[in-house]
Amino acid sequence: MIFALTSRILRTVDPVCLGKIAWNFGYKGARSVMLFEKRMKRGEFFPPFLYISILNSCNLRCQGCWVDVDKPRESLKLDELNKIVNDAKRHGNAFFGILGGEPFMHPELFDFLGTHPDCYFQVFTNGQMITEKAAQTLRKLGNATPLVSVEGTATVSNERRGGKDVLNRTLRGLQNCLDARLLTGVATSLCKTNIDDLLTESWLHRLIDMGVHYTWYHTYRPVGPKISEELALSPDQITRVRKFVVEQRAKTPIAIVDAYYDHNGRALCPMATGISHHIGPTGGLEPCPIIQFANENVRTDRDLFDVFTGSAFLKDFRETAAQHTRGCIVLERPDLVKSLVEKHHAPDTTIRQTALSEVAGMKSRTSQWREEEEIPEKHWMYKIAKRFFYHDFGVYKQLEAGAHSPRA
Ligand code: SF4
Repeated sequence: MIFALTSRILRTVDPVCLGKIAWNFGYKGARSVMLFEKRMKRGEFFPPFLYISILNSCNLRCQGCWVDVDKPRESLKLDELNKIVNDAKRHGNAFFGILGGEPFMHPELFDFLGTHPDCYFQVFTNGQMITEKAAQTLRKLGNATPLVSVEGTATVSNERRGGKDVLNRTLRGLQNCLDARLLTGVATSLCKTNIDDLLTESWLHRLIDMGVHYTWYHTYRPVGPKISEELALSPDQITRVRKFVVEQRAKTPIAIVDAYYDHNGRALCPMATGISHHIGPTGGLEPCPIIQFANENVRTDRDLFDVFTGSAFLKDFRETAAQHTRGCIVLERPDLVKSLVEKHHAPDTTIRQTALSEVAGMKSRTSQWREEEEIPEKHWMYKIAKRFFYHDFGVYKQLEAGAHSPRA
């Protein structure tokens, strides 16, 4: 598996891009996690992996989306984006996730990526705006990997994403990336209507035949203004996803990303561990993309390292989440999310300004944490990588000591 995957990447990815992946993402990314662990020992939390939603606008209208895609545009300007990255770079960060809306609608995206050749960016996109020219620009820059979202068959894609010919238009963008020899991924938000089509070996082999290098399975989270309860996976389906990922990682030559389990298959939340936080299109420093509240903003003269580490709101969110669940606090304990927001008087960062009532209306549901269903990694590469660079960093000690009931 590992030989076939490595040799495919070496044969099909542009050498400049490969160099940036190895150095900016591989070496510097690993170093940023080690620095993060050192900081944690000093009681400082500055996430090594920042996710930045650079604008709210999108050309699609997906079911269950929590971003204000149909509202007037809000975006982070080039100087604000540069400030985020420059402040983070000073503390050893080199990797950034770029989200939207649709990031390729941001007029300064390429200028932004080009300003930071010493960093690596993962751009979450529906792929439809990646023309041949855009893909070639990415190739010249060499420091970004497009992660193209595919949400199902042609019919399901139209239904889930609110458009016509959605799948074909997305696949055209995907093909442009592959033709430009970019390291290219496909992301899927698994839900009831696409799990049987896309959580399959045949889909992974189709991706491999297309030339895709990695995939990332998310699970649909019913949050936001238009919750689609009927799309959410059942607890057994969540376990099925984990089993599938672990099995396929051991035998199919495509890399599979996940963010919710350590090497032993124990659930974790990247927000609670502090390895990742989110910056929204209005500049708010949010715990994660689906918690749309913030007490701090990038629009400040202060160093963002100080702003992040000094945030009582983010600290309380991390600690409360880690004391109550190894899963997702939003899905399992929306009541706690509401009380934290109220306790800190944290403003709603959405344009619609209804986020608190949405949280208040949510009911508790199962997330990725199923204690009785822990499935350890099988493949040595994932085991080692997670063991050293992606685990819970000891934040669940109180929960493990039984100081709090995991699901009140
Ligand atoms: S709170 Fe939930 S959605 Fe946010 S990072 Fe944690 S597990 Fe993911």
